[in-house]
Amino acid sequence: MKYISTRDTSISFTGAEAMKQGLSKEGGLFVPESIVPFEKGELFALAGKPYREAAYAVMKKYLTDFTKEELFDCIDSAYSEKRWEEKEITPLVGLSDSAYILELFHGPTCAFKDVALQILPKFLTYSIKKTGEDKTVVILVATSGDTGKAALEGFADVEGTRIAVFYPDDGVSDMQKLQMVTQSGGNVNVGAVIGNFDDAQNGVKKIFTDKAFAERIAERGFMLSSANSINWGRLLPQIVYYVYAYARLISMGRIKEGEGINICVPTGNFGNILAAYYAMKMGVPVKRLICASNENNVLTDFINTGIYDKNRTFHTTISPSMDILISSNLERLLFDISGGDEKLISSYMKALSESGRYEVTDGMKKKISEIFCAGFTDDAGTKATINRVFSEKGYLCDTHTGVAVTVYEEYVKKTGDTTPAVIASTASPYKFAKSVLEALKVDISGKNDFELLDELSKKSGVRVPDALGLLKTKPVRFTAKIKKEDMESFVDGYLK
Ligand SMILES: *Cc1c(COP(=O)(O)O)cnc(C)c1O
Repeated sequence: MKYISTRDTSISFTGAEAMKQGLSKEGGLFVPESIVPFEKGELFALAGKPYREAAYAVMKKYLTDFTKEELFDCIDSAYSEKRWEEKEITPLVGLSDSAYILELFHGPTCAFKDVALQILPKFLTYSIKKTGEDKTVVILVATSGDTGKAALEGFADVEGTRIAVFYPDDGVSDMQKLQMVTQSGGNVNVGAVIGNFDDAQNGVKKIFTDKAFAERIAERGFMLSSANSINWGRLLPQIVYYVYAYARLISMGRIKEGEGINICVPTGNFGNILAAYYAMKMGVPVKRLICASNENNVLTDFINTGIYDKNRTFHTTISPSMDILISSNLERLLFDISGGDEKLISSYMKALSESGRYEVTDGMKKKISEIFCAGFTDDAGTKATINRVFSEKGYLCDTHTGVAVTVYEEYVKKTGDTTPAVIASTASPYKFAKSVLEALKVDISGKNDFELLDELSKKSGVRVPDALGLLKTKPVRFTAKIKKEDMESFVDGYLK
């Protein structure tokens, strides 16, 4: 399997090389040259099998430059019972007769990004060896909150790597911030960017495309790579849980082989829902992919109109990991939908960076609307859903999942479509305890973050995850506040 760039299909690399580079040098994203379908019966055979089997079935199709032993080594160390609170890794919980919550947050940082970021460092360690690289790989991450911590946790003290994480100073929750600034490990660094997520992401992209900078640090024995969801090694592990969820629904007797499902995903950078799209293209019978957004509803408008326009007010919401106006992974969808038209994709991305806007062709618009549906809700709608779902069903969801449940329920109301649905739950409610407690109308005045965790535990009867509860015992290690134009010199200083 080779990987080509969405902006230049003559660029072609192995999986190891594509993961090591992260982003293609002309700015495009690596995509597999084809989406490999499951063989007949292969999907059905996964019913009742453990997560690792689903992981191997998916990954072996795309990382053909890895041996079976290497892949299982990666899979088994990433998804060991030591690192995950649930044996199933991503359990499926029934919310109603037709809706199932796919809980993706039982990893070491309580958010779905662990699924990919626990395994990416293993992939990279092998990739470095396979490509004969002798430089230290420096992972740069811009985070809207959850990626940063999950990446730090995945890469801490991984040999041959360093990691620097940038988060927007006022764009993440206190708990998210605390998770990052207390990170242990001798190869990690964290900085707060004065600005929003897009400032942080643009800053990182700029560093990546600065050739002079790359040469300067190469002389010191470093090369840059990315753990953002633009890295193929992030996306691939996310395909697995949709395949696994489908196999689970079969083994639960909820659906028959070949029966369609809907999938609803709370979306920001478009990585998670893109993984669902790839799962569909591999043969998971999906009728509808429902893209759920918060007030930063640029994707809702795009899916409904074919016009992507980021020129709009940026909202800071209670679902901060979705506060994004440039959804980077959409580029991969557009590439696929356009039949791999690199020139067209390059022109859209150029327009996006120059004017913040592009409009896809009518043909693409039509194809997108045949598969995707989209909706959004505001903070009040999200809180109302969290409250209602808890009081009616005794199920507590976080704010991001609250967005997805709201949009899913509105979809059902509007269409009457009660096809069995999988709703991706992307974070533990404890990670956003303050907003969740507000949604439950609990008085939280005067309470600190850790008292909020206890309060939520009292209310829900669920134990506080150690990953959050034990943070109070950890010292703060990182206090740097950085102007967006100073991000490069921050990295430069770190690599001295
Ligand atoms: C990152 C994140 C999202 C958005 O996922 P994308 O892949 O960027 O669309 C949603 N919810 C949570 C909790 C996240 O951390």
